[in-house]
Amino acid sequence: MRAHIVTFGCQMNEYDTHAIQSELAGIGYSFVESYRQADLVLVNTCAVRGKPVEKVQTLLGELRKEKYRRRHLTIGLMGCLAQLPEGQRMGRRFGVDIMLGPGAITQIVPAIESGKFQSFEFKRELQFYSPPPPTGELSAHLTIMRGCNHRCTYCIVPATRGPEVSRPAEDIINEARALKEAGVVEVSLLGQNVNSYGMVAGTGLRRALIPGYPSFAELLRMVGRVGIPRVRFITSHPINFDDEIIEAIARTPAVCRFIHLPVQSGSNRALKRMAREYTREFYLDRVHKVRELLPDATISTDFIVGFPGETEEDFDETLSLYRQVRYDMAYMFIYSEREGTPAALHFDDMERSVKVERLSRLIELSKDISLEQNHNWVGREVEVLVKSSAAEEGFVQGHTRGNHVALVKADLSPGIHRVYVAQATPNRLYCTTEPTGLNSELIQGPVIPGTYDLSFAV
Ligand code: SAM
Ligand code: SF4
Repeated sequence: MRAHIVTFGCQMNEYDTHAIQSELAGIGYSFVESYRQADLVLVNTCAVRGKPVEKVQTLLGELRKEKYRRRHLTIGLMGCLAQLPEGQRMGRRFGVDIMLGPGAITQIVPAIESGKFQSFEFKRELQFYSPPPPTGELSAHLTIMRGCNHRCTYCIVPATRGPEVSRPAEDIINEARALKEAGVVEVSLLGQNVNSYGMVAGTGLRRALIPGYPSFAELLRMVGRVGIPRVRFITSHPINFDDEIIEAIARTPAVCRFIHLPVQSGSNRALKRMAREYTREFYLDRVHKVRELLPDATISTDFIVGFPGETEEDFDETLSLYRQVRYDMAYMFIYSEREGTPAALHFDDMERSVKVERLSRLIELSKDISLEQNHNWVGREVEVLVKSSAAEEGFVQGHTRGNHVALVKADLSPGIHRVYVAQATPNRLYCTTEPTGLNSELIQGPVIPGTYDLSFAV
């Protein structure tokens, strides 16, 4: 039996796909590159924006045609879109056989065995489910919690993934140990808001811990002791990104100094309409603390441009916040209205051309600032996790502890290497294995030899 799985969306979906693959392998499935050779096609979906939903719709159209040709083909729709009325309507229209929401993925084997199956429950067993480690991978994901308790007015995730549920710390540590044994050198701890790991229901600053659960800061220290050289985590919510977490990052050598701290907007008025629970000033205070305790950290963020009611003044505040923080990188999205969210119910979407024009201005600013930030690394020694050869001839590609894409002019084997940054572009660091540089006349920007604090390197 042959299966083909298509995954859309975030790292949590990739982790779930890996879990599903492990279950399928357990009942004898092998995996093929194309749906044309498969007996079973699973589509693990994303519903955060309209774009990925359109892609799923196109794919389901193709799969329906394939099923006309090969009647025995089984098609499954899984993940966030499957949880929503919009996805379930789509599933019925395209003759999908199996529909499983993100809380019901442990049902995959009975679903396949029955042939026609659907479940949109949030199964309690998922909290205690650990997939086996992937084979032959240097980097792996590890979901530490599922769901989200926040109610950002633009966001469909609370509807698709349900309320927060944290996995037991012991299971997380055992899974991390298994990853280390399997040769993984970089683990990313995943959750919609990892900072509220182990906390009782609710949101905000003063939530208590569930008895027996460590705080996220403590969990970071625990995973840091497992012996995996690189520990990452994503995503943080500014309201729960407290000093204890920043101190844990500073004092745990394995934890990468890369902070993804989504802000969404620089305007207090827009943040309030988004129900983000913090102000620009609160956010800047968190950034200030990061800069104080982790001066070499890279900071990235998410922005939504053109949220309903965003004025030119609001957008100027976003641009000024970007200049103030000097982000190393950013994911920038045009607001996409999602059926069933508070923003879709209560606010009017704005003209697309306005959103596109603002996004292009934000992208231009981000390129300038990323180039300046990346230039600060020229001349420094960095650690790169090399994964593969690069599209550019003579280079291998990987990423630094700060999550910069790094191209190294050398024939290095996959794994962790220490190299020197010779040149920077807005989205790449070009490196060499010798401190003399890739091509010294190409080096631009400030060269700061010997000032790089290597104490965090493992
Ligand atoms: N929980 C994380 C957080 O709060 O940052 C990430 C959740 S979401 C899957 C990832 C990003 O998608 C968000 O940070 C936001 O920028 C973006 N996003 C979510 N809903 C959106 C929408 N309706 N339109 C455009 N972007 C959206
Ligand atoms: Fe969505 Fe907000 Fe939850 Fe992130 S914190 S998943 S943006 S509701």
